Formats: sequence, C-alpha cells, structure tokens
Amino acid sequence: MAPAPFTVIRGGRLLDGDAADILIEGDAIKEIGLPGLAAPEGADVIDAADMMLIPGLVNAHTHGDASLAKGLGDRLTLELLLNATPLTSERFRLEDKYLAAKLAAVEMVLSGCTACYDLFSEFPAPSPEGLAAVGRGYADVGMRAVVAPLMADRSFWQAIPGLIGSLPDALKKEVERVTAEPAEASIAACRQALKDWSFDRDRVRLALAPTIPHHCEDTFFRACRELADEFGVGIHSHVAESKVQAVVGMRKFGKTLTAHLDDLGIVGPDFTAAHAVWVDDDDIRRLADRGATVAHNPTSNLRLGVGIAKVRSMIDGGLNVGIGTDASTCSDGLNMFEAMRLANTVSRIHSPDPSDWLTAENVIDMATRGSARGLGFDGSIGALEPGFKADIVFLDLGRIQYLPLNHAARQMVFQENGSGVKHVMIDGRLIVRNRRVLTVDYAKLRDEVMRANDRLRLENEDAARLVRQLEPLVGQFCVGLAKEPYHVNRYVGA
Ligand SMILES: [Zn+2]
Repeated sequence: MAPAPFTVIRGGRLLDGDAADILIEGDAIKEIGLPGLAAPEGADVIDAADMMLIPGLVNAHTHGDASLAKGLGDRLTLELLLNATPLTSERFRLEDKYLAAKLAAVEMVLSGCTACYDLFSEFPAPSPEGLAAVGRGYADVGMRAVVAPLMADRSFWQAIPGLIGSLPDALKKEVERVTAEPAEASIAACRQALKDWSFDRDRVRLALAPTIPHHCEDTFFRACRELADEFGVGIHSHVAESKVQAVVGMRKFGKTLTAHLDDLGIVGPDFTAAHAVWVDDDDIRRLADRGATVAHNPTSNLRLGVGIAKVRSMIDGGLNVGIGTDASTCSDGLNMFEAMRLANTVSRIHSPDPSDWLTAENVIDMATRGSARGLGFDGSIGALEPGFKADIVFLDLGRIQYLPLNHAARQMVFQENGSGVKHVMIDGRLIVRNRRVLTVDYAKLRDEVMRANDRLRLENEDAARLVRQLEPLVGQFCVGLAKEPYHVNRYVGA
C-alpha cells in the first residue's frame, strides 16, 4: 500500500517550549500550528506527547571511511593521524566502502543527525563505482548526504617540506614509494561519477574535496573549481586545521592558506573551509565576503590538539559557520549533540568576557541552518518551517536530562548526549523508531563489519608496523614546525 500523502505529528513541543502539531505532505512540512491542527482525512498520525521536536541536525564535516578504524590511536596529532592513514581505509574493497558509509550513517541517525557532508577517501583515487557504493550506503539507511571524494595529487610526505629528508634512509625509501595519483585521474573519475550519478540529488549528492591546500597543486584546485562550476556542486577543503599546516602554507605560498585559495578563485558560496583554526582576521573577512562556510569541529580540534577555532570572530564577521563531528578516528563518536555542547563551552577559552562566548542558540543555529547552507541545502533543511523537508528528530522528554523541563534549548545543548533521541524522520519517513534503525538489520551489519575488520587487520599488519616506526619521527619533525612563530595563536597558555 502506498504511504499516505499526509502525516500529522500531534502533541509535541518545539525548541521554544511551545506545544505544536506539524502537518507533513509527502516529504515536506506543510503547516505548523496549535494543538488540534486540522489534517486531511486519512492522514497518518504520529503521537509526539512528551516529546520535543527539533530539526534534524546537520553534520558539516565527517569522513565515513574512518568508521571502521575506531580506537586507532590516542596521543595523535593531526599529522600523526595522517601518517596512520594506511590503517584507515587504504585497503578497502568496494563492499567495505559501502559498509563504512552505512555504519557511519547508522551512528549519525541514532544520534539525531539527518544529513552530513562526508569527505570519503578512496585509494589511490576516487572511482565512480566507489562513490556510488558510498552513496548507496547512505541511501539504504535513508540519510541525506553530500559525498565528497577526498583527493590530493601530492602524498602527505611530499606535502611537508623537509619531512622526507629528515628520515633515515630505509624509511625514506618506504615513504618515497607512496605517491599520489595524478590530478587528471581523480578529476576524470569525479566527472564520470557526476555524469552517472543515479541517486536523487535532493537526498544524496556529490561534491569535491581537494583535501588540504598544500597537498594539491594549483592546477588541481583550478580543475576542481571548473568541475564544480560545470556541475553546480560544492568544494570542501581542510583549511589551516593545524599550526603545522599554517606554517607550511606561509612558507610555500608566502601567504595564508585562505589567501592562497581565494587568489586561486576557489573560495565562493559553494566552498566549505573545514576547521579554519589558524586563520587570521583577514582570512575571516575573505571567507565572509565570498559567502563561504566554515565547518567547525570542536571535538576533533580538542582530540588532535590543534587549538580551538575562534568562532565568535567568524560569526561577528558575518561568516556562515556549521558544526561537524569530523571522523571516528578523531572525534570520536559522530555525535552532533556532543559537538554542539563542545562548540559552546570551548568558545569560553578565548576571553573572560561572556559576551564573547557562544550561546546555546548560536550553536543550535550553526548545527542546523549553518551546516545546511554548507551542504548546499540552504532553505530546504535545518529548520522546522513550512516548505522545509520533514527532517525531524523526536527527543524523549521523559529522559532525566529534561527532568524538570525549564529551558528546552539550553537543556538540549548542555544536557542532551543523544540518549534522548527516540524517533528520527527524514523526508517525512521514520528512519528510527524507539531508538531502532528501521532501514537496517543491525545484527547483520554488525556481523559484516566485524568480518571486514578482521580481514583488514590481517591485511594491514605490514602497514601498521611501518606506521608505528614512522610515528616518533613524524611527530618530532612536525612538533618542530609547530613551534615556529606564526602571527595567530590558538593555544591556551602557550
Ligand atoms: Zn576532516
């Protein structure tokens, strides 16, 4: 039987604490009104008594391929995490790509996230089949996603001047064998994937992610810009995430990484700068003037010890900011409630003046409308309003975090950890009901993930040995770079 074209959610409360009914037609919100809202005869009714209805949270930055590599390391800097990349997804088969995306999607929907920007890595380069497998992972769960292949035409080793030269000869030989795929191959694969893309682009769409400015030649970035313009898709890159990147960028380009990308014509309304921790006031002004988005990832920033982005300056400068979780290897859960709360609380390290701090409302706005704009879904997701997609999270007000309910928005930001998520609706369809993902056989998924992981661990044994050998050397070299002077400081008490 075809689903009823109308659904009405009755008896819920909105974030402002008011009681409201929501009428949905197909995949979109038609009307929000007082309890008792008129609904067409035969409409499906969902009882939301004792529940708070919030817009689905939007994850502005993650890496689904890392979802099989949970627990990868402890005291890893960003550069040590990049050194460990071979242990994340380098040996993935096609079915592993599907599985990793599906696992990430399940984790996200269970914690109230209904859309994400996934910068997925394939090795040695993206492929149309691989991207389609990732897209299918999200589509099968029923989650909205922007899938952006993470690409580079220089290896991590080539990207950091002096790093290879600092290694003993035997290890030098090992890392010199690691070469990135030429830009032409990656661009051709993306073009093919964009042409062939068979998914509903309102649900799962593609974008491009040249990973880090100094990991890509200027010609590669320009080719991404041309392709993005041709197909109307976004570009997403890690910009000044760590001090090492900022220092290397200045050395290499004689200007900040943001200025470099802006001068190349990359920065525009379709551009997301991930992290933007080590950006200065001029960088913030450039990003704001071009209508770009920053994806703020506080959990990851803390975990990798890269310092904390100065988000208040970005918002005051009129720059759009979304919130992301980043990857399972550095955040570590893909939990947007955790990311929102940290975004709020870490904003307090920059100033003793509370008017400089982010508010609960600031971070809710960032995790919904702000991220939605970054994903290119501005005006269709990120709010509960007529005309918006019916992406709705039902929070259980019976949970202890809402006992008693004094201020819905604040309690959601400061107390919710995801355990209050009861149902999740995407495009008017319930994907999670009573904390169970309806679209996935979890026991089967678990079995497949464990089997893939056992196989990958065996296949990665040699790579793991090399990663561990390189770790102290890479760590030492990069910490040296991070100690060089830079005109921005994002460490406390440094
Ligand atoms: Zn990232």
